[in-house]
Amino acid sequence: MHYTGTIWRPPYEADALLLEVTAGCTHHKCKFCTLYSELPFKFRMTPMEDVERDLLEAQMLRTSPYSRMLTRLQGEDDPAPIQRVFLTGANPFVLTMEKLLEIASRIHKYLPSVETIGCVARVTDLANKTDEELLQLRQAGYNGLTIGVETGDDAALAFMRKGYTSRDILTQCKRLEQAGIEYGFFYLTGISGKGRGEAGAKASAEVFNQLHPFLVGPIMLTIYQESELYQEIRNGNWEEEGELEKYRELRILAENLNIPTYFAAMGASNAFQLRGKLPEEKEKLLAALDRIISEVSEEDLRRYRRDLRHL
Ligand code: SF4
Repeated sequence: MHYTGTIWRPPYEADALLLEVTAGCTHHKCKFCTLYSELPFKFRMTPMEDVERDLLEAQMLRTSPYSRMLTRLQGEDDPAPIQRVFLTGANPFVLTMEKLLEIASRIHKYLPSVETIGCVARVTDLANKTDEELLQLRQAGYNGLTIGVETGDDAALAFMRKGYTSRDILTQCKRLEQAGIEYGFFYLTGISGKGRGEAGAKASAEVFNQLHPFLVGPIMLTIYQESELYQEIRNGNWEEEGELEKYRELRILAENLNIPTYFAAMGASNAFQLRGKLPEEKEKLLAALDRIISEVSEEDLRRYRRDLRHL
């Protein structure tokens, strides 16, 4: 399989086949982001021959008599058919509908068992497609997009140079819903800065409550020295929330969400992995957050963050 640089995928896509169709990010401007900084280019589409070769390899691994024999010799069941493909790269959904349809048709040709195709999308990637195009993409299998909206706090979105507003989140996600494309949100705890966590969480809940994300997945801001945000802090233009403030922010977000969704703070940036269905498990989540806030020290949380070498 062809993979370029660090491959990042959401924890809930662990069972999906990771297929590289792009590498890097078309935006590449968010001040806190160092995700694709090791790449010698900003964004690149993977040549279709490489995509096709990877699909052929995946097909062989699942269906060849050799792999069947090997799994049986190892006392395992036949490899399960691949039902989901996750396209890698920061925002493959930026590709034109024609390109995305071409990719979907190759996937279905080599892996007919695939039911859905997911990837990360930026809010701006939705704006560059018509309603009709979104419908066609849904019919081709695109579903379960991951959108790193980060926050509904307009001041934070502007300062971090995310390239869209809370109104854009509402407009574009409603269009996705009309096309029948489900999506989950990543929320960036800490993005509003010191003293503004509570306001940021409330503003975000207000936006999310008007939509139907299948997941709200908070990740926690971790600032690396290579980021532009680090320089902003050094220049005195921005202050980081304390670790406990980030947990208080998370609590306010969970408390104020009143839509049915799955709340899941997962991945390395969260020192504590918290999951629960809303609204059923809200009280349990809030109690867990209260325990963290009252029993864990700022120093221990800070040490955890300092030791995070990579997300
Ligand atoms: S946060 Fe996402 S959209 Fe922003 S620069 Fe990083 S990869 Fe690109």
